[in-house]
Amino acid sequence: MTQHYRITLLPGDGIGPEIMAVAVDVLQVIAKQFDIQFEFKECLMGGAAIDATGEPLPAETLETCRNSDAVLLAAIGGYKWDNLPRHQRPETGLLGLRAGLDLFANLRPAKILPQLIDASSLKREVVEGVDIMVVRELTGGIYFGKPRGIFETETGEKRGVNTMAYTVSEIDRIGRVAFETARKRGGKLCSVDKSNVLEVSQLWRDRITELSKEYQDIELSHLYVDNAAMQLLRWPKQFDTIVTGNLFGDILSDAAAMLTGSIGMLPSASLGASGPGVFEPVHGSAPDIAGLDKANPLAQVLSAAMMLRYGLDQPAAADKIEQAVLKVLDKGDRTGDLMSAGMNLLGCRAMGDSLIKALED
Ligand code: NAD
Repeated sequence: MTQHYRITLLPGDGIGPEIMAVAVDVLQVIAKQFDIQFEFKECLMGGAAIDATGEPLPAETLETCRNSDAVLLAAIGGYKWDNLPRHQRPETGLLGLRAGLDLFANLRPAKILPQLIDASSLKREVVEGVDIMVVRELTGGIYFGKPRGIFETETGEKRGVNTMAYTVSEIDRIGRVAFETARKRGGKLCSVDKSNVLEVSQLWRDRITELSKEYQDIELSHLYVDNAAMQLLRWPKQFDTIVTGNLFGDILSDAAAMLTGSIGMLPSASLGASGPGVFEPVHGSAPDIAGLDKANPLAQVLSAAMMLRYGLDQPAAADKIEQAVLKVLDKGDRTGDLMSAGMNLLGCRAMGDSLIKALED
């Protein structure tokens, strides 16, 4: 039976529309091959939305996102909007989208592709075969805890305050996403905290341990965050899925991503308890190369694969896209950001055509 999905497309700014066009072409081919029907609706977000409506996330865009099965976002922002007041900045639209869809789980894969191994700053034998997923809590912890602010003490000295807090329900919901994610991957979950020092981390560890009784098939381990940072660089292959809070996840997901060496290759997913997830590349809108047909569309295409795997439960279709990416890299096709001697330099559009060919072969 044909599966029907409503997908909201947010191409945004800079290279966004170019890389989104490639991802949509890829999804159209996949739709035919897997008996899927996509109903795409394009909406304004970021700088493009500010120019058209004065707001980075118009109410109509959020409403359309809420009423869809998944949201595919490219990138937002650019020099033109950098000096607007904070509530009118493109990034404010991104925070509004996360809050509006209650996206509390951020999934950031860091997978070394054999063809790009030399792009990593670490030695080949350390990174070869690395395939990590960092599950970061996105709407709680120290970035949102109260009290927060810069206050004056009794002596008149300034004192900056933030509060790291997690409730049991916040820990449990991210924990469940992480166990379920590990189940779709290698079956191993490492929970990262600082429970030797922080009470909030002690509660985190207690809850994750408790939850693991419901996921007996998943091998659970715990690491302190300082050790986790060290282990990521020392022996990253020991990790399969990592779950951690907002602050630790922010830092560790960037560190894990850089093991792979190339920003144009990294997708991400942000998920809520129910309702649509948002799938987007990790990189920004690259205004320096916008409109020049130089962008690497692969992170966007891999975000579409994550949408199929984690948002729409279509793992076979996701596998097909990921294999097509490997095929074009095997052929030696490279956009400028990945270029090295002896490879074929392609523009964004031509990379898209090569992917379509790989999918249809
Ligand atoms: P960036 O990721 O846009 O660019 C960093 C460098 O990487 C640039 O040299 C760029 O050309 C290159 N690059 C990025 N993606 C590429 C791709 N797909 N193919 C080839 N090269 C690529 O980061 P930045 O320059 O710090 O930010 C530019 C704008 O993007 C800013 O307005 C920033 O606020 C915004 N931004 C948006 C997001 C988002 O939409 N989630 C994330 C980060 C930055």
